[in-house]
Amino acid sequence: MARKVDSKLVWIDGRVVPADEAKVSFFAHSVHYGTSVFEGIRCYDGEKGPAVFRLPEHLERLRRSAAHYFMSYRFSDAELTEAIRDLILRQGLQECYVRPVVLTGEGKLGVRPADNEINVYIAVWSWGAYLGPGALENGVRVTVVKQEKYRPAALDPTVKAVGHYLNSVRATVEAHSRGFDEGIMLNHQGRVAEGSGENLFLVRDGKLVTNPWEESLLPGVTRDSVLKIAEDQGIGTRIAPITLEDLKTADEAFFTGTAAEVTPIREVDGT
Ligand code: PMP
Repeated sequence: MARKVDSKLVWIDGRVVPADEAKVSFFAHSVHYGTSVFEGIRCYDGEKGPAVFRLPEHLERLRRSAAHYFMSYRFSDAELTEAIRDLILRQGLQECYVRPVVLTGEGKLGVRPADNEINVYIAVWSWGAYLGPGALENGVRVTVVKQEKYRPAALDPTVKAVGHYLNSVRATVEAHSRGFDEGIMLNHQGRVAEGSGENLFLVRDGKLVTNPWEESLLPGVTRDSVLKIAEDQGIGTRIAPITLEDLKTADEAFFTGTAAEVTPIREVDGT
């Protein structure tokens, strides 16, 4: 099937190759066990040219996610920054999405990664409204899915690992199969966790409420930005668990995420 991502170049371990030549070996450990980690980053059309949003924080999370799964790579954050900059400029993009992936490559193929090769890939491409055309302007319709978010004692939700996303794949496909734009997962305690690829905020009595990572969620860079902007503007914020009842009775709700940006939630299961 034809690739549907419009990316012409890929950076692999320090080399830039045409996208069609960016391959992964079938014998890579990550293909068999999901041992790869990634980031989703956006670049915006800034006053002085393309500007990558909070890149140091994303690169820090990438390194921490990799370390969690016993991967360390030989490139510094300065080298990865330069690689990303180069890819954006060479493809003449003003605004784009940036996707670094660190994967456990060839070597032994037992479950325990031995001294397998660690490979770093980066691609950039144009990506509009993640939750569909009109999502940012009109809001989205969401459903609380049956698929439960994994618990922190099983997988660390603060780690952005490829294998963890099987949970999100199930959640979003379930939501779409029932005619919704996105699914919200509950955690193992029956409280709200997050969307398949977004954090959740409620507005209640003029204050912003979002839940802590212990409720089983990835504490997003966008979530952090929204909290900081709110504080700067004197808008009250509270980090506390969110129940289904809180969600249904909120004055407003919205998703935050690099891909989803700030997407209003128009409806939750008919409410
Ligand atoms: N939760 C999940 C499960 C996600 O995939 C994302 C997107 N990375 C987020 C939250 C939001 O994180 P960020 O704002 O850092 O993109």
